[in-house]
Amino acid sequence: MAYVITDSCVACGTCISECPVEAISEGDIYKIDPDTCIECGSCAAVCPNDAILPPQ
Ligand code: SF4
Ligand code: SF4
Repeated sequence: MAYVITDSCVACGTCISECPVEAISEGDIYKIDPDTCIECGSCAAVCPNDAILPPQ
């Protein structure tokens, strides 16, 4: 399981530098590699758009 970036992402880039394992990649909508994410929650805590959801 991993955190997930939703369509609410506006590609602001705030989350990418917060990830300790570099699981986030850039794009029109940013993505989290589920095999790399360690579920720390750091990205979700800084997203200004609440676009990152915890594992469901
Ligand atoms: S901080 Fe949120 S809105 Fe910004 S790039 Fe990351 S997921 Fe997208
Ligand atoms: S939850 Fe932590 S490890 Fe997973 S993508 Fe976000 S910052 Fe990276």
